[in-house]
Amino acid sequence: MVGVVGSAGSGADEASMPSAAPGGVRPESLEESGAVGVADDLRRLWVPHRMVYVSDHHQPGEHDCPFCAAPERADSEALIVARGEHAYVLLNLFPYNSGHMLVCPYRHISNYDEATEAETSEIAALTQTAMRVARSTLQCDGFNLGMNQGAIAGAGVASHLHQHVVPRWASDANFFPIIAKTKAMPQLLGEVRELFAEAWPRP
Ligand SMILES: [Zn+2]
Repeated sequence: MVGVVGSAGSGADEASMPSAAPGGVRPESLEESGAVGVADDLRRLWVPHRMVYVSDHHQPGEHDCPFCAAPERADSEALIVARGEHAYVLLNLFPYNSGHMLVCPYRHISNYDEATEAETSEIAALTQTAMRVARSTLQCDGFNLGMNQGAIAGAGVASHLHQHVVPRWASDANFFPIIAKTKAMPQLLGEVRELFAEAWPRP
């Protein structure tokens, strides 16, 4: 159980958005198909001034880690957009916004400073490509990029490093999702994965 303490703030600069998808396909059904993501009740990214209390929050080990298991599955099942040599890109099953990608090393490491030079270099390159692909396909106006390091910092799966790439649009920030805890996801996850995978440049 993850709780958020503090006021909602203006919300104007937040990448907060819950996980519901429209059109009758719920994230749960995709999860059953093998897709993975970062589930938490935080709903917000990069608000370090807020205290987050975490209890009974299981952090997976290598043997039950969704980000270790995803590359073993088919791309379409695991919502994988692209695979590199040391890291890969998948859609977040619990997106804060449309096109929310996660860039993960294959290795089960928690912190960015544990990553090798090859891993950090490829995470950086994949992040850049993810931005270009999202910009060209979804015409987004900006991005939130970042890593939550540790459960206390808001990481849903703190035990396996992942970089968030969250597309933003000028019109996506409003009070409704903060108050109502719901937001229409304009495109289904599977469709977005296909769109991104097709637009991803071939080496
Ligand atoms: Zn892992």
